[in-house]
Amino acid sequence: SRFAPGDPGEAAEDVVMLMQRPCQRQGVTLTLERTPLPDCQIDAEKIRQALLNLLKNALEALPLGGTISITINHDAHDALITVCDSGHGIPSQDLPLIFEPFFTRKGAGTGLGLSITRQIIEEHGGVITVTSEPVQGTSFMIRLPLLQADQ
Ligand code: ADP
Ligand code: MG
Repeated sequence: SRFAPGDPGEAAEDVVMLMQRPCQRQGVTLTLERTPLPDCQIDAEKIRQALLNLLKNALEALPLGGTISITINHDAHDALITVCDSGHGIPSQDLPLIFEPFFTRKGAGTGLGLSITRQIIEEHGGVITVTSEPVQGTSFMIRLPLLQADQ
């Protein structure tokens, strides 16, 4: 792994560029709202992978179009990354299971995306949480510790 000081917002920019066209093809509006962050200690390739897994799931939850919005800001201790979609949502009984390896509700799903994403975030000393309302959509929130937290 290659950890170095950096702004995870740059990884988000890269992933948004990668996903912009697939989203357009599906009538999905993908937005990124980003404030510059103090550095985090990150493996940029892994952060890209983690965010890509979230964006793929969001797009798969939006067969009829909609919105995916990523917002990035920070508090005194952590970078905060939210990935929000207006898709079909996650049934509440599934919420405790979705980060488990091989849990999938998709015909040809691997069930590995979210477990890998969570592993990556935890390797960074961060946490990932989810909230979801059927029909309204789903939000994943990531906290990544800042390299130098305010005292
Ligand atoms: P896979 O995408 O292969 O099914 P994941 O680990 O990426 O595996 O996701 C596990 C499950 O979590 C999905 O099958 C789906 O049921 C649910 N899920 C994850 N993200 C979303 C989302 N944004 N909207 C709705 N359901 C989701
Ligand atoms: Mg997936």
